[in-house]
Amino acid sequence: MTISIQRLIDDNKCYEMVRELRWVDGVTCPHCGEQNVIKNGHDTTERCRQRYRCSTCRNCFDDLTGTVFAGHHQPLRVWMLCSYLMGLSLSNLQIANELNLSANQAQEMTTVLRQGIVDRQEPIALEGEVNATSK
Ligand SMILES: [Zn+2]
Repeated sequence: MTISIQRLIDDNKCYEMVRELRWVDGVTCPHCGEQNVIKNGHDTTERCRQRYRCSTCRNCFDDLTGTVFAGHHQPLRVWMLCSYLMGLSLSNLQIANELNLSANQAQEMTTVLRQGIVDRQEPIALEGEVNATSK
């Protein structure tokens, strides 16, 4: 029997972590920068992804709007694990194997993560520093 790390990771915890890292000063509308925001249900495919509506500009957004995760098809937990494994200095190939990705997908994801998660800020460090080694 092989242990799949993906099955040990809780989507809800991943979203909690993103919210903690992203909304340090409270949920802020990415469109107008106001904090006049109400919760607006959850994403239909990713149940833990909180949606919001801004009462100032009336735009909707969610936990991942404006982050590199938004336009990609991998679930958030795969991104989190990828970031974690990068922190352990695994090669792209090792990451691909761990997460059942193709080498190309792993390469793409590590490239994106190195560029930063929200508005090109520092990558999320899950534990200590994320070392950017390319192999
Ligand atoms: Zn707004």
